[in-house]
Amino acid sequence: MKRVYLDHNATTRPRPEVRAHLLQTMEELEGNPSSVHRAGRQARAVLDDARARTAAALGVGEDEVVFTSGGTESVHLALLGGSFVARAPAGLVTSAAEHSCVLGAAEAIAARGGPVHAVGVDPRCQVDPAEVLDAASRPGVGLVSIMAANNEVGALQPLASIAAGLRSQRREGTRLFHTDAVQALGRIPIRLAEWGVDLASFSAHKLGGPLGVGILYKRRGVQLAPQLHGGSQEAGLRAGSENVPAISAAALAVELAVREEPSLAVRTRELSSLLWHEIADTLPDVELLGPPLASCERLPNTLEILVGGIDGRMLVARLDLEGLEASAGSACASGSLEPSHVLLAMGHSAERARSGLRLSLGRETTREDVLAAVEILERAVSALR
Ligand code: PLP
Repeated sequence: MKRVYLDHNATTRPRPEVRAHLLQTMEELEGNPSSVHRAGRQARAVLDDARARTAAALGVGEDEVVFTSGGTESVHLALLGGSFVARAPAGLVTSAAEHSCVLGAAEAIAARGGPVHAVGVDPRCQVDPAEVLDAASRPGVGLVSIMAANNEVGALQPLASIAAGLRSQRREGTRLFHTDAVQALGRIPIRLAEWGVDLASFSAHKLGGPLGVGILYKRRGVQLAPQLHGGSQEAGLRAGSENVPAISAAALAVELAVREEPSLAVRTRELSSLLWHEIADTLPDVELLGPPLASCERLPNTLEILVGGIDGRMLVARLDLEGLEASAGSACASGSLEPSHVLLAMGHSAERARSGLRLSLGRETTREDVLAAVEILERAVSALR
């Protein structure tokens, strides 16, 4: 049985050229990039090159790239590191539909006395910039964190309007604007200057790179408090010996993802559209969530659907038996019995929020995969209904 993988928002298979590069770099390198001897200098050169290539792909300076262990750590360095630079923790404004790693960082800020406000989202899963700005104008707020693209529904957020509003608010003290762009890189153009952000988090495994490598864009001049202490790696922002082969492979994945993003977006948009129309024609009582399918306010590869009367986790288990890999909500929460916090934030009841199914397409997805997925879905739904 050929299996169909439609869970690219959870993770992507490492690209063959990235895997080959990773293995070759592991073969070649023996040193720690902080060592001064030849083996160390060789590793340092590969690390510097990876930083330069990542920076060029993102259109930023080399000194604006920090390597971490993943999206979660990048978010924590941005938010906890941004909040705890001064004596009193800076307060945070975020949204109720953020990834659990942002909500977790928000809880950590709140536990240490920083005020946290989570603004709501509309039924399409988008924030209202006016609400974000209103919350950001409250006393003590030093950080705003709004995701670029939602991992469950695929809705894009109005980052540029928020940034423009933040700039125009007359207010004492600095406020940093962070975006969790983990699902955006490789799927939509990354326009950090246009978005007006000071900090942006990325993760290599969402775009054909290895697991365990994150990138934090930190605008030059932004002050962050390190969250890992010890060595002076990553300009003193993140202690710990760098995983040079994985970082170098991640840099290659980022370069390829940025280069191929326009063509991948066209292909995945067409295939997602085919997938949704086939599902809507085949299954009764299904609803597509988020901004309209043809809208440019959604990720081209992501479909979140409600399948009436069916528990999403049961459906995912059944689909798995039948050969389709998908998820009910985010991968991190897929073992959870709780309904998706994102669908609840969009105004769905707990029962409806439990019937969500996320199908996310990627580089390897073909038309045949899409048609096979619809057949499997039809079989699984009729077995469960
Ligand atoms: N942010 C978003 C929007 C995500 O989808 C994910 C991963 O699912 C993360 C952050 C966390 O990234 P990582 O798995 O690299 O820690």
